Amino acid sequence: MNLNDPGFKHPKAACLNATPVYFSERGDATWVKRAKKICQTCPVLEECKQYVLRASRDTMVYGVWGGMSSSQIKAYRKKHNAEKWAMAEVA
Ligand code: SF4
Repeated sequence: MNLNDPGFKHPKAACLNATPVYFSERGDATWVKRAKKICQTCPVLEECKQYVLRASRDTMVYGVWGGMSSSQIKAYRKKHNAEKWAMAEVA
C-alpha cells in the first residue's frame, strides 16, 4: 500500500496506525504477512478491496492492499475483469 495515496484513506482503516513499511512495495515476506494479518482485522476490508478494483494501475500496483499481496492483487483484478467481460457477453 502506498500510504501517500490520496485515494483510500478511511478513518477506520486498521493500517492507519500500523507500521507503514509492512504495507509498502519494499516489504519482505515477513512484512507482507504482518500487513495481511492487520488487514484481516480491518473494518473496511471490503471497501479497500473495492478500491483495489477501481484504482488505476498507475496509482497502485505494489504493496499490500485489502489483505492481498501485489501478486494476489494482480490475480484478483484479472479474475474480476474476466468475470465482468463474461457477464457483458451474456447480456
Ligand atoms: S484492508 Fe488493509 S490495506 Fe486496506 S485499509 Fe484495511 S488495513 Fe489498510
